[in-house]
Amino acid sequence: MAERTFVMIKPTSIEHSGEIFDRLNMILGPKVERTHYAEIEEVPLSVIQEHYVEHKERDFYGYMTEWYEGQKVAIAVFEGEDIVQRMRDICGPTDPAEAPRNTLRGYYGTDSLKEAYAERRPVENVIHASDSAGSAEYEIGVWENYLTPASSN
Ligand code: ADP
Ligand code: MG
Repeated sequence: MAERTFVMIKPTSIEHSGEIFDRLNMILGPKVERTHYAEIEEVPLSVIQEHYVEHKERDFYGYMTEWYEGQKVAIAVFEGEDIVQRMRDICGPTDPAEAPRNTLRGYYGTDSLKEAYAERRPVENVIHASDSAGSAEYEIGVWENYLTPASSN
């Protein structure tokens, strides 16, 4: 099986999700397949808690996960060579204030980590993408009840 990655369009960017997936298809090209896709109208707290469990000990974990509860997200699985790193590169760094304009977080993101942290809310950085092939498989497991097979383009 080729490498897989998991992406989630965050609630504050859900209005751009169609455009973002179009861009991803264009940038990633025909050798990458979007194998699963789903829109979730109201995310349960427990799923977000499991998704972000690696940050359980961080001070933002509580308010971040609670902020997501009941919000809308779009999720997808992509499969292809080197897809984990390629997707991370397209997303850009965590802090939109530091993200180049030719990344999704730089283009669509207007928030900054510093402001978000001061206001005790998760930074609005458009999209989540797995940071390793292992995290991807873990995250796909967390969301598997929602993920339905989807055609690639
Ligand atoms: P990434 O999403 O780039 O992999 P992390 O795994 O470090 O970044 O963090 C997960 C998510 O938690 C980030 O995308 C962001 O939404 C949020 N986050 C991280 N650090 C902070 C912080 N200091 N204050 C608020 N939210 C944060
Ligand atoms: Mg991460």
